[in-house]
Amino acid sequence: MTVRTRIAPSPTGDPHVGTAYIALFNLCFARQHGGQFILRVEDTDQVRSTAESEQMILDSLRWLGLDWDEGPDVGGPHGPYRQSERLAIYQDHAAKLLADGHAFYCFATAQELDDMRREQMARSETPRYDGRGLLLTQEEVRSRLESGTPHVIRMKVPEQGVCIINDRLRGEIEIPWQQVDMQVLLKADGMPTYHLANVVDDHLMGITHVIRGEEWINSAPKHKLLYQYFGWEMPEMCHMPLLRNPDKSKLSKRKNPTSINFYKAMGYMPEGMLNYLGRMGWSMPDEAEKFTLEQMIANFNLDNVHLGGPVFDREKLDWLNGCWIRENLDADQFADRVADWALNRDNLKRIIPLIKERVEKFSDIAPLTGFLFSGMPAISAESFAHNKLDGETVQKILQFSSWRLDTLRTWARDDLYAELNQIAGQMGIKLKDFLAPLFVAVAGSSSAPPLFDAMAILGADMVRARVRHGLDIAGAPSKKQLKNLEREYQQISAERLSNPAEEG
Ligand code: GLU
Repeated sequence: MTVRTRIAPSPTGDPHVGTAYIALFNLCFARQHGGQFILRVEDTDQVRSTAESEQMILDSLRWLGLDWDEGPDVGGPHGPYRQSERLAIYQDHAAKLLADGHAFYCFATAQELDDMRREQMARSETPRYDGRGLLLTQEEVRSRLESGTPHVIRMKVPEQGVCIINDRLRGEIEIPWQQVDMQVLLKADGMPTYHLANVVDDHLMGITHVIRGEEWINSAPKHKLLYQYFGWEMPEMCHMPLLRNPDKSKLSKRKNPTSINFYKAMGYMPEGMLNYLGRMGWSMPDEAEKFTLEQMIANFNLDNVHLGGPVFDREKLDWLNGCWIRENLDADQFADRVADWALNRDNLKRIIPLIKERVEKFSDIAPLTGFLFSGMPAISAESFAHNKLDGETVQKILQFSSWRLDTLRTWARDDLYAELNQIAGQMGIKLKDFLAPLFVAVAGSSSAPPLFDAMAILGADMVRARVRHGLDIAGAPSKKQLKNLEREYQQISAERLSNPAEEG
């Protein structure tokens, strides 16, 4: 048997360090067994998936030094490797499940399902699909289909008993079937859900080992059932422990930047990052802390992954990355890496227009632009003191900006201006005053070069991290405050949607 593993990212946001971590372990396992590692894009969520996100994920995995044998960009014998290009395959497979009696049509409207759940909750039951579609006669189904009634296709799930998942790291995991919903497989628009597409593709692409994050354990019973229904052998399952913040909560961008692009913008060496990710739940037989990808592959043993949640600790990462910089770069290589990072002619040419008017001699450049080549600015709560804004307003500005910046799909100067100018208007604050705390958070002081241009140059991930950092320093809202702010922000955002052209 040739080992075939895969990473199956959904291109719905920033390239996440968790994706790189899972990719790394899949790659090591495949290479160590002389097998293949595949990249498949799971973009069936057409609302949230974007081509930009897909490109960023591919680019950032490559930046880290990860390589796949088959994928949307390199092709391969089992393509296409983008699920949106495989819709007919899923529809055929859903039809087969219907024909074999393993799936059924469901015509329930969103309202009906809402009522159903509300009634279940009122009876203190766990809300779940009650199988109403199964009660329809063949005649009823036929006539609704003929009249074009919108419908989905759901899978049948046993009412009783437990499902046993054999997990390579966790042994037998028992999940009662009662906890498993009659999952939608094909949506009303003909798009498959994750579950159907994932199982069909893993099978058709010859995946032998599914190594993925533990957040997918609860999906495994549905997957196991689908393999049975299709009469296919299920790949070996292995659910990896989730990365954690130092306080052991699930790694979240509120506490730790999670985008690989952030670490790239910070100037980490990809080798250092990859080495650090390789230590998440795994260690070299000799406990060596610093190792290359080749060394990891040569020594890899999936069975030695520890399940205790690995902590993604920036301080340790910094230490390890420092070792890589000191020990692996001579002056020439150092210069090349720094140029690749940010100190290069192209970047300088983007910056010059921002400062040209203010420079009297070249030695003014470094003090003016230092924040474009730094990590988090050295600021304190006092840095945000402002003659027109009280502390609460500062907090609100930073929080609203942070939320809005998080949702931006494009990161051009004019978009940034339009979005922030709009919030300022909706908050009834003059743009100049509104921007003051953002200057401090992003540039470290209010006397910096033009903010929107600087934000465009710094890039989305660095700016988002700095605004969040600014918020932490200025005093992040308490849980209760956050609830109120959320409500207020939603109102603002709703106005924005109903009147998108409004300016200030
Ligand atoms: N598309 C899923 C994700 O975003 C893949 C999960 C899996 O590996 O089965 O992670």
